[in-house]
Amino acid sequence: MSAGEQYSSASSEARDLWALLSVVLEAVTLPYDAYDYDERIRERAGEAKSAVRDAINQGPDRLGWHTDWLRHRLTAEQADAQAREKNRCRRCRTPFDPADGRFDGNARHRETPWCRGCVDNCHEGGAEHVCKICDPARYGGEPR
Ligand SMILES: [Zn+2]
Ligand SMILES: [Zn+2]
Repeated sequence: MSAGEQYSSASSEARDLWALLSVVLEAVTLPYDAYDYDERIRERAGEAKSAVRDAINQGPDRLGWHTDWLRHRLTAEQADAQAREKNRCRRCRTPFDPADGRFDGNARHRETPWCRGCVDNCHEGGAEHVCKICDPARYGGEPR
């Protein structure tokens, strides 16, 4: 159900404002355990701020436009974050560097979500070494 249907007795201006408020709230809300929380929340708050600032400057007739714009920016931010997440090592969080030719460098190790450095670290590690790459079951992942 859209905001409009839910509050059918409200004026359309009030509904437009309601919709903008909802998107602003969404903009400044991220799970606290999101990996780069600080950086992402800053970016999203920045987008929300410029949408609200422009909406205030341009008056009530343009609320819908700013709501759509902000919604669009949030979708783009989400997609960027997912792409970053896919392109870095899941253990050390370093971005993969396909140009890094070192056997223990930052290139991706085969088709795995790990970098070569972390995988090499498993091989080099002493008897006490365990991590989520070489012993995934211990870390709540799927054994391989
Ligand atoms: Zn790594
Ligand atoms: Zn390991």
